[in-house]
Amino acid sequence: MDLLDALRHEREPKGLGAVTFMDAHGEMHHGPPRPFMRLDETLIPDYDLVDIGDYITTQTLGVRDLAVTTSRGCPSRCSFCYNLAFANRRWRAQPAEAVVEHVEMIVRRFGINAILVKDDNFFVNRKRVTAIAEGFKERGLDVVVRAECRADYIASGHYDDALLGELRDAGFQVLTVGAESGSEIGLSILDKDITVDDIRTANERLGRAKVTTKFTFMCGFPGESWANIKQTLALMLELVGTNRYARATPMHLYAPYPGTPLFDEAVAQGWEKPATLEEWAAVDFHSGELPWLDEETKRRLRRMTVSTYFLDGRTMPEYFSQAPMMRAAAAVYGAVVRWRARRNNFHLMPELWLMEQYRRVKAMA
Ligand code: SF4
Repeated sequence: MDLLDALRHEREPKGLGAVTFMDAHGEMHHGPPRPFMRLDETLIPDYDLVDIGDYITTQTLGVRDLAVTTSRGCPSRCSFCYNLAFANRRWRAQPAEAVVEHVEMIVRRFGINAILVKDDNFFVNRKRVTAIAEGFKERGLDVVVRAECRADYIASGHYDDALLGELRDAGFQVLTVGAESGSEIGLSILDKDITVDDIRTANERLGRAKVTTKFTFMCGFPGESWANIKQTLALMLELVGTNRYARATPMHLYAPYPGTPLFDEAVAQGWEKPATLEEWAAVDFHSGELPWLDEETKRRLRRMTVSTYFLDGRTMPEYFSQAPMMRAAAAVYGAVVRWRARRNNFHLMPELWLMEQYRRVKAMA
């Protein structure tokens, strides 16, 4: 509002909290940091201002879903995560009643069947999560919930089997859990504060609770060896092979985010820090051009990051649920990818050429 007010009165927004601007002489001005907003009142967006059809997707088990945010920030300290710079490890949340009220309103008004919780870490406060689940039940909301959780919250029993079952019954059927690496060294570099066994235990418990869980993975960060990457591949195979509710993201290539400890390490190891906003906009985080990797590792990682989209044999067939031929092809290709992953064989891959052609045809259609 302060910024709008300054613009309306054609004043320079000098000194306004969290505002950076360039004046008429090309000089940059940075305002002081702003205190975080309080989220303890009901924050319901004005849905009359948008065409809601543009925001309803089918990313959650293929049913109509809408994204909501119920909290911001995360108290953890993962060394690669934007949250460190963005939220200073401060977690702030709307109270449970406000969340329930908001979700009930969008379910009844827009006829959606699922909510996609966009919070960084929805499960920080167990009491609040339990109250939200009870609220959904009391109001008879038949809604699937998809949200992010840490592996140690589940492995430690903070969310035990009984509670996971109750949450599932209240709609919490889809979770995303940040695994990131299958090696203790990798997890330590990432400051994940979890162990590989925590990830395994979380997988077992979530499987028993019949909660569809997508584990996220990354590779190519400073200090990670090829042996570590092979351990991550092996863990991906193990999780999806032992739990039919488990899914795996592809191995995402590490992206250096400013303000994080791993960013400083990446720069120390030769990653060229962009100097301007234009240079930042031009960075291709998918290129695999990370100076600490040798050429052979870069080539392998580029291939692995594409093919592991299909590794779990579930995500892509579900994605193509409306196209039976593509669904069948994705399932077959998933088996090929798992065969490759078990042998660490990502050399000859004619399928990458085929995928590129498919992308081009789709872009032209
Ligand atoms: S737990 Fe997730 S949101 Fe929190 S710091 Fe780690 S990566 Fe970021």
